[in-house]
Amino acid sequence: MTTQDRARSVREAVRRTPAYPFTPIDAPIKLDQNENPYDFPPELKRLALERAAERAWNRYPDLTADTLRERIGAYEQWDPEGVLVTPGSNVIIKLLTELAGIGQTVLSAQPNFTVYTLEASMLGARSVGEPLNADFTLPEAALTARLADSGPGVFYLTQPHAPTGHSDDAAVVERLVNAAGDDWTVVIDEAYHQYSGTDYRDLVRAAPNRLSLRTFSKAWGLAGLRLGYALMDPALATHLRKLVSAFNVNTLTQAAVEVALEHPAYVAERVAEAVRERDRVIEALAAHPTWTVYPSRTNFFLVRTPNADVAYRALLTHGILVRRQDSLPGLAGCLRVGVGTPAENDAFLAAALSIQAE
Ligand SMILES: *Cc1c(COP(=O)(O)O)cnc(C)c1O
Repeated sequence: MTTQDRARSVREAVRRTPAYPFTPIDAPIKLDQNENPYDFPPELKRLALERAAERAWNRYPDLTADTLRERIGAYEQWDPEGVLVTPGSNVIIKLLTELAGIGQTVLSAQPNFTVYTLEASMLGARSVGEPLNADFTLPEAALTARLADSGPGVFYLTQPHAPTGHSDDAAVVERLVNAAGDDWTVVIDEAYHQYSGTDYRDLVRAAPNRLSLRTFSKAWGLAGLRLGYALMDPALATHLRKLVSAFNVNTLTQAAVEVALEHPAYVAERVAEAVRERDRVIEALAAHPTWTVYPSRTNFFLVRTPNADVAYRALLTHGILVRRQDSLPGLAGCLRVGVGTPAENDAFLAAALSIQAE
């Protein structure tokens, strides 16, 4: 009997959805997950551990992480009642699908962050994707048409975009958000906004059906703690909060992220280095005879190679792990490369420029 046969009670939509496409591979230079190459500063780690140790681990954590939400609210200058926290923004994406996607539509530009469509597929939302333009800008006319005829549902805009690293004109983003009207829950995923210097909070604040999705996983360098959040109107947060499982952010994460928010100076330094390094690597890679490197406003960038499989393996023989994106629509031959430490970036450049034939 196959697994398929035994899983007859599993809903069809879950069975036919592929697992999250990620295979962990060990490599000395890990540039495959857009992580911060630097760990949380050791002195802050110590403070976080002390803070966590002071709290009672036998007790359930603060139900709605009130202290943490207040700190985030103060940091972001946002009403804490409109702040929602979950273990990673991936969880908010699932909640948003439950909130406004099930039996309705999830609209995004393609390719996009895989989680949007995986959740839509499993939860029975109709997934509608409009291909990005060839230069990776948003397909404004096509999205505007979909907004007019495919609602209600959830509309995702990722700024800067992933996996392209492209940042769109603010005027285009604003027109699309306005075109969505009341029919849509409009999500601006700003996971990488620190690297682009963009910030759509004012657009989000202007209407009660809009959210900004943010995370501690990238610029803050805390991917291992799992904390994502969204900024929105308190009325929308009230509905979304009903869908959050109780006590969803654990005591250790709450304590550590509070400490991070009390000492945020390290973030700007690291973002500045990542931006410098990104621009340096992209400029140097422009000399590659067969690869095309795309501009980026994030801590990663895309390169188009003649053969992604060959290029990926060749980098791996140099101990460098990147992410294949070549099966995504419009990204034939593409690899996604994270920005590492200066030494890691030097190693990547040396390896990449030595892979001449591929
Ligand atoms: C990394 C990333 C996130 C953050 O996910 P977490 O669950 O918070 O780690 C969100 N959106 C995009 C587009 C990302 O690349």
